Amino acid sequence: MAKKQFKAESKRLLDLMINSIYTNKEIFLRELISNASDAIDKMYYNEIVSGKTGISRDDYQIVIEADKDSRTLKISDNGIGMNKEELEKNLGTIAKSGSLDFKEKMEESAGKDEEIDIIGQFGVGFYSAFMVSEKVEVLSKSCDEDQAYIWTSTGADGYTIKEAEKEDHGTEILLTLKPNTEDENYDRFLEPYIIKGLVKKYSDYISYPIKLVKQVEASDADAAEEADAEADSKPETTLETLNSRVPLWKKQKSEISTEDYNNFYRDKFDFADPAKVIHTNVDGLISYTALLFVPSKAPYNYYSKDYEKGLQLYSSGVLITEKCPELLPDCFSFIKGLVDSQDLSLNISREMLQHDRQLKAIAKTLEKKIKSELLDMLKKDRDAYLDFFKNFGLQLKFSMYDNYGIYKDKVKDLVMFYSSEEKALVTLEEYVGRMKEGQDAIYYASGERIEQIDRLPQTEGLKDKGYEILYLTDDVDEFALQMLHEYDGKPFKSVQSDDIELEGSDEEKADMEKQAEESKDMLQAMQKALEGKVTEVKLSKRLKDHPVCLTTKGGLSIEMEKVFSQMPIDEDIKAKKVLEINADHSVMDALAKAYESGEETIGKYAKLLYEQARLIEGLPVEDPIEFSNSICELMTK
Ligand code: ADP
Repeated sequence: MAKKQFKAESKRLLDLMINSIYTNKEIFLRELISNASDAIDKMYYNEIVSGKTGISRDDYQIVIEADKDSRTLKISDNGIGMNKEELEKNLGTIAKSGSLDFKEKMEESAGKDEEIDIIGQFGVGFYSAFMVSEKVEVLSKSCDEDQAYIWTSTGADGYTIKEAEKEDHGTEILLTLKPNTEDENYDRFLEPYIIKGLVKKYSDYISYPIKLVKQVEASDADAAEEADAEADSKPETTLETLNSRVPLWKKQKSEISTEDYNNFYRDKFDFADPAKVIHTNVDGLISYTALLFVPSKAPYNYYSKDYEKGLQLYSSGVLITEKCPELLPDCFSFIKGLVDSQDLSLNISREMLQHDRQLKAIAKTLEKKIKSELLDMLKKDRDAYLDFFKNFGLQLKFSMYDNYGIYKDKVKDLVMFYSSEEKALVTLEEYVGRMKEGQDAIYYASGERIEQIDRLPQTEGLKDKGYEILYLTDDVDEFALQMLHEYDGKPFKSVQSDDIELEGSDEEKADMEKQAEESKDMLQAMQKALEGKVTEVKLSKRLKDHPVCLTTKGGLSIEMEKVFSQMPIDEDIKAKKVLEINADHSVMDALAKAYESGEETIGKYAKLLYEQARLIEGLPVEDPIEFSNSICELMTK
């Protein structure tokens, strides 16, 4: 029978496994046991939902059998099994999300030492069997079919699938270990004490019994008597249960070490340790346990539409669904983990879940819990929080703005912005807490980079007064703050808007009014020259050293205009721009002279100043040729 070839990407992964010099090859057992447990989960769930009664987890088991003579290790389960198509699809290709992540990481690091680390970081699943085996046989019978099949592969040269005999549904994986080498002793995986140790280390919380087949020797006779009843039918062997079977989240918190949490998280959700663990038991109208994790890094697809939020949902330890999005609000979509409740009815179909009242109640309390834990982190471990914010801050800010701001009050205490005073990220609460006397708004300035914003002429006057300014550099920032509108009763105000009032003495004000009156005609001439570009040209006291700046009227800022211009919308959304001229700057004298020499000259100057102001804002020059000609003209005058 012709061998079938693995799909190209699977083959690469397989090659890596076969030729692995990864030192932690023992993880293969964890992977196979997890697969077996998943298969039993599916079976158990089906049986319960189809109304079968009186079944218990003890009816299921994962059995490990080592045979030193043939150098084989067998891992069997009585789970859901696989039919021919499933064997082909599941073991012949990598098409699953976890494996895809792995593949991408691997391609990034192709040929480097990092390849080896990656194996340890990821749950690499079934393929890891090839790290220790020269041949892998998978005998499986689907619970829906009468025919069993055997899938066989010695690795790179492909695989075969044939009809086979198997009495009950489930899967048996038979590994023929690689020959020992100078560096690697594969025989150790046949030693009972090694197997026991590995199960304890990696798979203790698996909720079905994991049993090891033991040969009964004279000295084992006592143990044999105590062992499971199944042993009766095979007098020469006995089964020893290796795992304690209590799911991690059901254990007392005091019994769980950080390492236990980390192992669990890495086994189920991620390849790195979590940044924070939230383990909570809630007793009430609806009781549940939640074990939640804040990842230490945003998944590579987090900010894309491919990312799916959700928590695993268990009902009394039975997995109902791998990803229940209803349990997490969008603002906390980065949270991973699970919820287990005895109060959920198992008979509701998975599709019905989203309408479930109980779920909504759980989601609500979870949301509060997550928020309070994050606030706690912010208070007690600022560095950790800053790290967290680097990864997920953008999501928090997005969700402040998204959905018409329904989450804004939930996240307003969690967001941070760069402060002109602190030269670091600060919260809104911190900002408001140290506002100067007489300061009645939260000031912000937006731009592309911190350094650029810091040099914006519009910030000069406020800085002189000792006011703190928040520097906004993410596209979403200004939209988010506008959605929030105010914090603690203090409105947000852009330093780049034209209505910033820097209160001065009455004398100063009178002075300014007089100057404006005197320059009225000149300003009008300038505005005429800039028709269609700015809605107003006016004098300003807010500037210190700079001659001009652009500000805006109304809610739409220049940064927002930039964001809109990058969106695929037909409408040309423009900010209402105002050209402000520093009333105390020597440029005023030059302008007065230009105005005297006629409309053409003042028009030219107006355009020059306008283009300069655009450059300062990080906008492109509108008419580069005219701009450069005008400058040359000035130079040669
Ligand atoms: P993953 O477990 O991450 O999906 P694997 O490569 O470990 O990836 O397994 C691929 C698929 O093969 C599984 O998703 C499952 O559908 C199937 N599978 C693996 N082991 C078993 C098993 N013991 N019983 C039934 N199906 C299995």
